[in-house]
Amino acid sequence: MTYRKYLWEKIVEFQQDQSLINYPINLYELCKQNEWQLITYDQNSPLVDISNDGFSVYRDNEYYIFYNASIHENRIRFTLAHEIGHIVLNHHVEFNCEIILDNSVGSYIEDEANIFARNLLIPNQLVSEIEYKSVKILASYFKVSEVAMATRLNTLQIDNRFLKYDKTKPLEYCYNDFHTIFECYQMAFNRMHGVRY
Ligand SMILES: [Zn+2]
Repeated sequence: MTYRKYLWEKIVEFQQDQSLINYPINLYELCKQNEWQLITYDQNSPLVDISNDGFSVYRDNEYYIFYNASIHENRIRFTLAHEIGHIVLNHHVEFNCEIILDNSVGSYIEDEANIFARNLLIPNQLVSEIEYKSVKILASYFKVSEVAMATRLNTLQIDNRFLKYDKTKPLEYCYNDFHTIFECYQMAFNRMHGVRY
């Protein structure tokens, strides 16, 4: 399936405009800065019937993200990133929906939000730099599920093909923690495989 050029442009624009440099990304802070209101519910709430994970609402020019706070933190993070995707990609306005429910508009809208989410949580450029890609270690670093991490690794090429960054505005990631963890990991891996320094 071919996604709209708009999707890729919006992902790049958002990453650059928001100066997203610290990972794992703080989604609560990101919502606060953009004045997207977060509203939690739990497993006993009737809102679970709308979605077990979460959903977003656009009303009176304000965005609200509702999410089930009783599910695993990593899953919550993906839900928030997915709903942020619907907001940034302008789905509510474009499709004239106060609330976007799974498959209410079309599955490609859900796919777009998922593609946005994986690039928001785990930027391609960061992961592409690592030689030995361990799903487990990367998942724990970026605070995502191992399933989400595996999907991220399987989609590096497709995303790299479409994401076009403005070279005059380079993304400057906060590499400190990231490099320390991965240099240790890489050295341990090399030692295990008999690589001498
Ligand atoms: Zn959705």
